[in-house]
Amino acid sequence: MPSNKTLLMLPGDGIGPEVMGEIRRLVDWMDRRRAVGFDVKEDLVGGVSYDKHGTPLTDAALDAAMTADAVLLGAVGGPQYDDVARQHRPEAGLLTLRKEMDLFANLRPAITFDALLDASTLKPEVAQGLDILIVRELTAGVYFGEPRGMQTLEDGTERCIDTQSYTRDEVERVAAVAFDLARERNNKVHSIEKANVMETGVFWRKTVTDLHARGGYQDVALEHMYADNCAMQLVRWPKQFDVIVTDNLFGDMLSDCAAMLTGSLGMLPSASLGAVDETGRRKALYEPVHGSAPDIAGRNAANPLAMVLSFAMALRYSFGLGDDADLIKQAAQNVLNRGVRTADLMSEGATQVSTTEMGAALLQELDALAA
Ligand code: NAD
Repeated sequence: MPSNKTLLMLPGDGIGPEVMGEIRRLVDWMDRRRAVGFDVKEDLVGGVSYDKHGTPLTDAALDAAMTADAVLLGAVGGPQYDDVARQHRPEAGLLTLRKEMDLFANLRPAITFDALLDASTLKPEVAQGLDILIVRELTAGVYFGEPRGMQTLEDGTERCIDTQSYTRDEVERVAAVAFDLARERNNKVHSIEKANVMETGVFWRKTVTDLHARGGYQDVALEHMYADNCAMQLVRWPKQFDVIVTDNLFGDMLSDCAAMLTGSLGMLPSASLGAVDETGRRKALYEPVHGSAPDIAGRNAANPLAMVLSFAMALRYSFGLGDDADLIKQAAQNVLNRGVRTADLMSEGATQVSTTEMGAALLQELDALAA
């Protein structure tokens, strides 16, 4: 079906093309069964782009990403690129994409599936029904602040500096994303910092509080929490959280911590969002949290569900197709409830399937749900 919804697929390296293959089948299914068409383009990123073009991201691929409604990325990297110069390494392609698209809000859901509760290290009653969204600031903070680097003081002492820095706008725009998303969920935001010991923490808390009070977000419940306490609360009673918004450094750690509450790397999607432009469009990149898994690449063994759930996030956040996103999530849940598992999720009594078999089981479940 002709469409004005443009989707750029960047499968990348390792298992990237294998998991992206299942998205192509999903896109076809949506065209046939839901009358939702996408204008799909495809390009190279990472090691495959370096092999062909001598750069991990060509200008043409970047242009395509800048103009697409949503970019889907598989994974980049592999041991064969370990000795390549830093600016040509596969990861540099992904970093350039994130930077040029100015993707300042990184969304990392932590959702548990009942059928996989055994995979969580938490007690089932703590992990069951978990649905948290961590919104991490991605383009500022201590990973980018200046000055940074090594210095030698006059007395010869070596010193190394990183700088935590945030502007009001940088905090406000990511907090606004968190408030907006909370409204579509359980209407609660926890803002996380270290206001007890960091100046930027005090500033973060004040800025979020001001935006909440004066930016028209008073209908959303807002609580503040120190980052160290948040880490403890995540493993103690994670269900107290709905949306968590935090800076780049704390977000890096807390999102990995929350991810592991759910058990498996092959199940974790993510989204990175930019600002809304004058046409109402938001640049957006969707990718599984896992890497290119060179140890299982080319064997049709990868779990495609993290990529599938990333596509569901694209449907929800870039195309306003929340019902279709829910349908895909439900289909994934049903498939897992039937005991269908890729190798990474295998447990006693389950049926082991390949990547493409998992994709087929998902489509079969979608057919049944959409009937
Ligand atoms: P990885 O996520 O690729 O793999 C870690 C382990 O998890 C491996 O044993 C792998 O087989 C398994 N795994 C990962 N995804 C899986 C899936 N969908 N199904 C089944 N099993 C899965 O991390 P790594 O081994 O540390 O890194 C491998 C390469 O990926 C490196 O080059 C690294 O730089 C790159 N990487 C890329 C990204 C990205 O593209 N965003 C993220 C992380 C790592």
